[in-house]
Amino acid sequence: MIKPIVAGNWKMNGVSQSVTEINTLKANITENDQSNNCEILICPPATLITAFAHILSNSPIEIGGQTCHHAEKGAHTGDISAEMIKDCGAKYVITGHSERRMDHGEMDRDIALKTEAGWRAGLKVILCVGELLGERKADLTLKVIERQLKNSIPDGATAENLIIAYEPVWAIGTGLTPTTEDIAKVHDFIRKFLIENISAEEGKKIRILYGGSVKPANAKELMAVSNVNGALVGGASLKAEDFTGIIAAYQ
Ligand code: PEP
Repeated sequence: MIKPIVAGNWKMNGVSQSVTEINTLKANITENDQSNNCEILICPPATLITAFAHILSNSPIEIGGQTCHHAEKGAHTGDISAEMIKDCGAKYVITGHSERRMDHGEMDRDIALKTEAGWRAGLKVILCVGELLGERKADLTLKVIERQLKNSIPDGATAENLIIAYEPVWAIGTGLTPTTEDIAKVHDFIRKFLIENISAEEGKKIRILYGGSVKPANAKELMAVSNVNGALVGGASLKAEDFTGIIAAYQ
């Protein structure tokens, strides 16, 4: 049995006062004992990792970073290494988010290096893939996903150190989602790729998350799709009540 994971990506949102949301989330999760059926993760901006990790130290909610530099340390002004993220109390790091690809020109090769860096530091990596709207319209979705997976998953991937997040770029923050049939098609394709290119043993256990406009209202339907093993949530993870509503899909 694969234990699903519901991960929240806060992006560039949150200041010290945002601890109130995390306190509410912690209270909700503890009250309802919602951590039994799925793992729960929050990826705040780097400035809040330490504070959130402190608050959540005696809760089942884990903390992750949103990206990392590929080097351990050095002359890289403004960058943060995977080791630093781990040192702040994180257990996970996201790589390959489409906003990093677009805002910072990150390519599959960079994402492979960052993923390796996460593993070097002992972090689990959530590696994001997903097609642009034009690519979907041109019927290139599976080709794009295959290229991203092929070029950005380093050797050594296991179900313990890697999670894939399928995030159609056109569904992120837009309120649009693919049909459940379309999501199943991509997730089944990713599952087959992992089994054929990593190993049957690991490939069938690696979690594949869906991300893109997941909300409390659609979470149950989306999480029930074939080979969907959880969600990567942007906007709806910022409010504890919304995020709790998504986690409830696994009750
Ligand atoms: C994301 O950016 O990872 C994401 C899925 O965003 P949203 O849930 O806001 O669409």
